[in-house]
Amino acid sequence: MKDQTLAIHAGFKSDPTTKAVAVPIYQTVAYEFDNAQHGADLFNLAVPGNIYTRIMNPTTDVLEQRCAQLEGGIAALALSSGSAAVTYSILNIAEQGNNIVTVPLLYGGTYTLFKHMLPRLGIECRFAADDSAASLEALIDDKTSAVFCESIGNPAGNIVDIEALATMAHKHGVPLIVDNTVATPALLKPIQYGADIVLHSLTKYMGGHGNSLGGVIVDSGKFPWANYRKRFHMLTEPEEAYHGVIYTEAMGEAAYIARARTVPLRNTGAAISPMNAFLILQGMQTLPLRMERHCENALTVARHLKQHPKVTWVKFAGLPDSPYYELAKKYTKGRPSALMSFGIKGGFDAAVKFYDALNLFLRLVNIGDVKSLAAHPASTTHRQLSEQELESAGVTPDMVRLCVGIEDIEDIIEDLEQALAASS
Ligand SMILES: *Cc1c(COP(=O)(O)O)cnc(C)c1O
Repeated sequence: MKDQTLAIHAGFKSDPTTKAVAVPIYQTVAYEFDNAQHGADLFNLAVPGNIYTRIMNPTTDVLEQRCAQLEGGIAALALSSGSAAVTYSILNIAEQGNNIVTVPLLYGGTYTLFKHMLPRLGIECRFAADDSAASLEALIDDKTSAVFCESIGNPAGNIVDIEALATMAHKHGVPLIVDNTVATPALLKPIQYGADIVLHSLTKYMGGHGNSLGGVIVDSGKFPWANYRKRFHMLTEPEEAYHGVIYTEAMGEAAYIARARTVPLRNTGAAISPMNAFLILQGMQTLPLRMERHCENALTVARHLKQHPKVTWVKFAGLPDSPYYELAKKYTKGRPSALMSFGIKGGFDAAVKFYDALNLFLRLVNIGDVKSLAAHPASTTHRQLSEQELESAGVTPDMVRLCVGIEDIEDIIEDLEQALAASS
């Protein structure tokens, strides 16, 4: 089935006992065993079934199936946040002495995790000089556990050549992990281009309404872990943390996602609440519809700003002068989501005046809400940085970031117009 149908139906048929048509919220911690043998079979992964909500839950299960189907994967693991999804995607296959190779432009939280936290656990994170396959390839060695990228970077809006990175990574027996939060599967499905693992902050466009944190990891089922027994011994040799199971033998193509559930999630516990799984499912029903409007509004806003006398520059991959325009055409049919940045004539002071004058756009740091959002990094999130640090973070004093919502485009443009008028 197609995306808009999957977004509504995948993973759920009317509840067999109650005939409820909305996905029920299973607000329970535990599930009763029929008898001792049944309990033992569940723990041995010999029969399917629920044990404890930290590990699985029927509401969350619908969310997992829906995400897996939308991304074209074989299975998924939902988590409490996108940050947990990034962390577990790595911890599932890397340990002390390993390294990962990553593109340099990343979501701020991911950058901090890679730069400051994983290295303290003995996992080195090697940042490439740029997004190109050659730059990443130069950093790979026999201790490399994964290549990591964002399909569309948050906040830079850069688009990565997933196909080139996947081909390069596979040549070295390494999986490609793609954070697809900004694009969503409605615009881009990384698995179609060779990605092995896809993850999301469900907090953003997937849930779409700015009300619930969540994350998900989707397994393509395609990476041949067993061909690289030594490098991925956690999947190919008996797992001490789970009574000796060999994931590639017990779980076949679902080895990665099964271990993510039974080792990182089970033991460190970043479980999503059933209520949040429900709210995110509710939002996801309109994902393809919403993304259509987000993209249409964003393109109109970018074109409007581009010709505006008070605007000095616009960065958006949907505009022909963007260095990512061709990649946007290849990977998103020219609809590279709804994040953009632009510069205001008059620098810092003008940008602050513009920012304070916004009525409809909300002043905050988030993306992927139905509401239009604006950030002025130089006066808020990046206020403490020196001019040089600002420059290396890609932040200029005149820069405003927009995440265009799905309100009526006339109201969006009117708000930008009056705020631009107020900027000087
Ligand atoms: C927000 C975000 C995350 C982190 O997600 P949370 O749900 O806030 O933990 C990870 N990656 C990207 C690209 C994001 O935008």
